[in-house]
Amino acid sequence: MVQSPVPLTLTPESMQIDLVGKDGVLRHMTYAKDGFASLTYKTALPPKMPDGTAPAQDLYWPLAIRLRAIEPAALPVVAMRISIKASDERGRMLTASRLVPIESYTQKTHLLFPFRGKGIILQAGAMNGGHRNRSGEYAFDGTGLDDAWSPVKPGDGKNNSDYPGFGRDIIAPADGRVVRARKDRPDQPVGDESNPEYYAAEYKRGGDPGNFVVIDHGNGEFSMIAHFESGSLKVDVGDKVTRAQVLGKLGHSGDTDSPHVHYQLQSGPDWEYSDALPCQFDNIDQKVLDRGSYFEAK
Ligand SMILES: [Zn+2]
Repeated sequence: MVQSPVPLTLTPESMQIDLVGKDGVLRHMTYAKDGFASLTYKTALPPKMPDGTAPAQDLYWPLAIRLRAIEPAALPVVAMRISIKASDERGRMLTASRLVPIESYTQKTHLLFPFRGKGIILQAGAMNGGHRNRSGEYAFDGTGLDDAWSPVKPGDGKNNSDYPGFGRDIIAPADGRVVRARKDRPDQPVGDESNPEYYAAEYKRGGDPGNFVVIDHGNGEFSMIAHFESGSLKVDVGDKVTRAQVLGKLGHSGDTDSPHVHYQLQSGPDWEYSDALPCQFDNIDQKVLDRGSYFEAK
């Protein structure tokens, strides 16, 4: 929302959102100071331009927000007007307002959720408990459950092997070609902890995907799948993969606080700077998956 050529500390004060139709405002929402503050974040990555290149001059994002909202289709929303107030270190008030056009997106690739069997969504996109980075706006963290729908063996949950999802086969969501792969990362040794000591050097501030792949589906859509079990990833950059092919195993590598798989559909090969794309899965009945959704993937 705010970018600056110099480092700047801004305190969120309030935010107004208007859902705008052809003839005027359809709905108005106000976020008070604490509500607004909880939606802002500091990116752990240096800013880059949409094509992945570095900006011509230094660029800082002192106030970034990602919003995810579900509105009735009956409301003919064509744009959102987002207006914010923030204060600087000297208490001066800053205001900014931006009209954001609303577009609809039709998913092109028929996707499988990347594992089969019983599972739960641990967190989903922005405003759904996590993933407020640009390409992760619609991402899912999912883990496998046992036959009684439990995420851990009774009374345990310290070791990775206590999680019934750990080691489950991770499958290719659709045909494609591997364009990025990382397979050298260790698993977090304790099943219910995220210890920064196990993050790669470049992700010491968080956001480490651990062992991961990006698959190009050939139509402007790319699947990014992360946190594979150490040593389990079987594919390399350049490999062709087919829908449902086993890629590796659900693991606990990178910035993860329990064994799970991270899945997101994105617009390019670089998860760091691609746009997020919304998606649904052929092998799960529910079309909306949110934090806490139980599912059985066929
Ligand atoms: Zn995730």
